[in-house]
Amino acid sequence: MEEPYLLTLRPHYKGLPIPMAVLVKDGKPDFAVVDFAAVFDLAGQKRCALCGTRMRGNRYAFIGGPVSKANHLYQDGPMHPDCASYAAEVCPFIAGRKDDYRDGGDRPDEMHITIYDSYEDTYITHGYPPSRERVFRAGDEIE
Ligand SMILES: [Zn+2]
Repeated sequence: MEEPYLLTLRPHYKGLPIPMAVLVKDGKPDFAVVDFAAVFDLAGQKRCALCGTRMRGNRYAFIGGPVSKANHLYQDGPMHPDCASYAAEVCPFIAGRKDDYRDGGDRPDEMHITIYDSYEDTYITHGYPPSRERVFRAGDEIE
C-alpha cells in the first residue's frame, strides 16, 4: 500500500512516518509508547491519531484486538481509515513484527481495523481493586 498523502507530510524516522500520538524523545520516536494525553487531545479536536489532520465526515477507524472489537472500546485514538490501513501494514507494533509492547502489556495476536460512525471518550472500571481507565467507546460499526 502506498503511504497516504497526509502521512507523507509527517516527519519520518527510518522510513516510517512518526505518528502524532507516539512519544518522541530527542527527536527519536518510540513507536511502542503511546502518548495518551496527546491521543485524547487529538480525538477531542476530531484529529487523526496518526497524521494529526482533522477527520471529516463520519468514518472513524479504530485498531484493536478481538476484545476491543467485540466491546467497541479502544485505547488508541480514532484515525482516518487510510492512515489506519497503512499503519497496520507498516507499524512494527501493529503489524506484529515486534513482541515487546512495553507500555500496553500483551499485544493481542490479531488486530482488526473497524470503521465506526462516531466515538466518545469515557472511563471503564475493571479489576479488583477497581481501577478506572480512560478509553474510547465507538459508535455504530460501519464496516
Ligand atoms: Zn490520518
